[in-house]
Amino acid sequence: MISVTEATHIIQSNLFKPKKEVVKLESATGRIVAESIFADRDFPPFNRATMDGIAIDAKTFQLGRKLFSVEGIQAAGQPAATLSNNQNCFEIMTGAMLPNGTNAVVRYEDVDIENGIASIKISTVNEGDNIHFKGMDASENSVLIEVGTKLSPAEIALLASVGKTSVAIFSYPTIAIISTGDELVSIDRKPLPHQIRTSNSHAIQSALIEMGCHSTIFHLTDNEEILKTELNKIASDFDVIILSGGVSKGKFDFVPAVLESLGIKKMFHQVSQKPGKPMWFGRGPLPWRESGDEADVFVFALPGNPVSTFMCFHRHVKPWLLKSLGVEVESQQAVLASDFSFKPELTYFLQVNVKNEDGKLLAFPVVGGGSGDFVNLKEVNGFLELPAERNEFKAGEVFQLIRFK
Ligand code: AMP
Ligand code: MG
Repeated sequence: MISVTEATHIIQSNLFKPKKEVVKLESATGRIVAESIFADRDFPPFNRATMDGIAIDAKTFQLGRKLFSVEGIQAAGQPAATLSNNQNCFEIMTGAMLPNGTNAVVRYEDVDIENGIASIKISTVNEGDNIHFKGMDASENSVLIEVGTKLSPAEIALLASVGKTSVAIFSYPTIAIISTGDELVSIDRKPLPHQIRTSNSHAIQSALIEMGCHSTIFHLTDNEEILKTELNKIASDFDVIILSGGVSKGKFDFVPAVLESLGIKKMFHQVSQKPGKPMWFGRGPLPWRESGDEADVFVFALPGNPVSTFMCFHRHVKPWLLKSLGVEVESQQAVLASDFSFKPELTYFLQVNVKNEDGKLLAFPVVGGGSGDFVNLKEVNGFLELPAERNEFKAGEVFQLIRFK
């Protein structure tokens, strides 16, 4: 059995190589950019007035002149006019080009204009006042957005300003979610007393939807032959398979053996963690998939207990998916709010309710019914990762947080 640290290392050393696709700008929000975005011109592209007012030569003012004849109006969207005499001024509007021969803008609030004469009411005017100079934010050809950046509305604004009507993004892998178990029925059925509905598939699908990822749900029974035939088909159609159930030591837990019999190489089975100890991870080129890394199918087989599936997805699968897409996942930490003890030598993922108190994230343990008690999960918004080598954890100590809400 390997530690959580080792499992993380193995998972993160086996990333899939995403393909790229080009999408229209309006479909790019939330996606991960796959090309560097360069400034196609200086930003701003010209010396731009940031206030409505008058544009003057600051020197003239500093030499004692307070009254300036208005030569004309410089509006936004017009080429730069030229001041014919440095004793004069232009009225200027926000966003307009600075007229040639001027180097400062004095706000209307600081000026009185009467009969074509502007009288400046303030005592100092410096060169550059209320001007956003050409190239101040970015110079032509500099990188504005790096590969691997998630496109939020701010990046969309940048893309729009450099004229990208479409952009290259990393494609999500195709993902199959498979629930295994004879006791499971689809959620549109009324279960018999010995049956339950396949909630795990929907929990995973929903977490993927939050990431913008589509997936397809399957259900397979605990029948070795059926598992083999169906997994074979699914593995040839999808890039990633997330299974739940059938990976433990039960008489009908055929998943690991079936996966290996299909040529999917086990990278690990069992992690010293609670919940989620029986977790299995592997990858493999199947005979009829093209050879090479890109054609590998990646398989996460998660234990079926709802909390285990949920935790394993958020702690192991989601960061793998993000990292594969080139996103750097920042780890989060929280302060344990009350003493807690856990004896077995396993990393314990404590269900917590995290609250922000005076800028500090405080994690309050939510005592539930264990890995099967998913009704509890609605009270919980994260897991606090308590290291395996200790069994007493004190209030005030800081631990890694896996936040899912
Ligand atoms: P297993 O990992 O197959 O031994 O399943 C462990 C527990 O999780 C059993 O009580 C299963 O009924 C339950 N379980 C397995 N798969 C699902 C699922 N898709 N949705 C809800 N519960 C599940
Ligand atoms: Mg089962």
